[in-house]
Amino acid sequence: MIEMTGILFIHYEQGCSPFLAFQNEKYIKYNQPKGYCKKCGLYFTNSENDEKYSGTEKYCNEGDHEEVIGDEWSYAGLHALTPGYHLIVYSNNEILYNNILTNDFENEMNKEWFYKNYKAQMDVCE
Ligand SMILES: [Zn+2]
Repeated sequence: MIEMTGILFIHYEQGCSPFLAFQNEKYIKYNQPKGYCKKCGLYFTNSENDEKYSGTEKYCNEGDHEEVIGDEWSYAGLHALTPGYHLIVYSNNEILYNNILTNDFENEMNKEWFYKNYKAQMDVCE
């Protein structure tokens, strides 16, 4: 059994239906530079990416760029909620849910926990 701590979210992927998911915090890197400017959208890491530019009419003046900083989630930490997994959901230090996921777990879950990225622990048998 693997015991993981992380956060709840809804996984969206183009061409697939969204599903309830858990991201292992071990695979979250916080405050990573994203390689593009939050003001004009210019990618600075690689000039071949210039066609991705989707900002306003003009790029900032040299030196005025402000790089976007954000969290990076690795797919290695992504787990779909699955019947049989043991899930504990926390809000601050309160336990909101502590159960083995049933076949009907999607209806038992409060979707707000996922929209708001509540903390959780999940035990996975593999
Ligand atoms: Zn800029």
